[in-house]
Amino acid sequence: MPASLPALLPGLIAFRHRLHAQPELSGAEQATAAALATALRTCRPDSLLTGLGGHGLLASFQGAQPGPTVLLRADFDALPITECPQHDHGSQTPGVAHLCGHDGHSTVLLGVAQLLAEDRPAAGRICLLFQPAEETGQGAAAVLADPAFATCQPDYVYAFHNLPGFPLGQLVLKEGAFTAAVRSLALRLIGRPCHAAEPEHGINPALAMAELLQRADALNLRDPGHPDFALVTPVHARLGELAYGTSAGEGELHFTLRSWQQGRMDTLSGALLAAVAEVAERHGLAVESRWLEEFAACHNDPAAVSLLSHVGAALGMPAQAPECPFKWGEDFGLFTQRYPGALFGLGAGVNQAALHQADYDFPDDLLAPAIRLMHGLALAASDPVRTRP
Ligand SMILES: [Zn+2]
Ligand SMILES: [Zn+2]
Repeated sequence: MPASLPALLPGLIAFRHRLHAQPELSGAEQATAAALATALRTCRPDSLLTGLGGHGLLASFQGAQPGPTVLLRADFDALPITECPQHDHGSQTPGVAHLCGHDGHSTVLLGVAQLLAEDRPAAGRICLLFQPAEETGQGAAAVLADPAFATCQPDYVYAFHNLPGFPLGQLVLKEGAFTAAVRSLALRLIGRPCHAAEPEHGINPALAMAELLQRADALNLRDPGHPDFALVTPVHARLGELAYGTSAGEGELHFTLRSWQQGRMDTLSGALLAAVAEVAERHGLAVESRWLEEFAACHNDPAAVSLLSHVGAALGMPAQAPECPFKWGEDFGLFTQRYPGALFGLGAGVNQAALHQADYDFPDDLLAPAIRLMHGLALAASDPVRTRP
């Protein structure tokens, strides 16, 4: 462990508790970004960009010798869920809470910055990206589209997500697909309302909706071990208004779609839209459709995974490979599409509440191992001499 980490930990734990108590939704993380900026300035990075892709920050630490640029990314947005805290740093904002541990992810990266402040990298460049709006799948795209990000040009990119259900500090890692491609489809089926006593005079979308739910279900290939894995989940449905004299004239169906590969996602999306068009036409319905909350599949580069395994093993954190990729989406997939890198998991404890659950909290005991690993990884990836045996 870097000698100074134990002394830094109490301040970092207090910082995470402050973030946890003051959560902000995706795209509205002004106060969180301001708190991070204040803390990062004390680390004297060679440059600090703020307002990146919304409320993002990028702190860069330049080594004395030339070498690769490595980017470490943490997210810092919270969720629109009411917390049932089992601790005394619960959310002070009704209906908003850090139930995915992004308060912990960003505190870990701040810990890395504090270590780099004391001991600057010998070579290369280490860029610490604090990314907004991960939960909506918009933050990574916004950061990558921001012209200011062009100053970074990373050779390697890394990020981690804490994983409840795995032993605390367990490194969870695999080559290739790591998280799913995910996108959501909102459908509105428009017919014609009429008196409920004479439904034959209107066009009620109820049966078309029932048929579409079954057609969507038939597209599933639920085995996550299959390369053509496909999951279409109905997440919301609404028919007409609550007016007992009226036969409904419109309705909504919303789905999420998941696959391991972008190409598979394209064929799955096409098959669902074709079913929608066919069913709607047969029932005389007009359709409005829109795609939202899109997450690119995350693919891990073999060399990046190998370096991470090496660093983890040297720190006494051997990696465990999950049997299959994870079915959730992570917008870090957009980074791994552009740059070699890896997204990996760090166990948050076997008995830890699941992500997005009302009683979840990022475990403070994970801060030290996560900082140690991310710091070691940054130094190894930015200094090719150090990584050679
Ligand atoms: Zn989440
Ligand atoms: Zn998350």
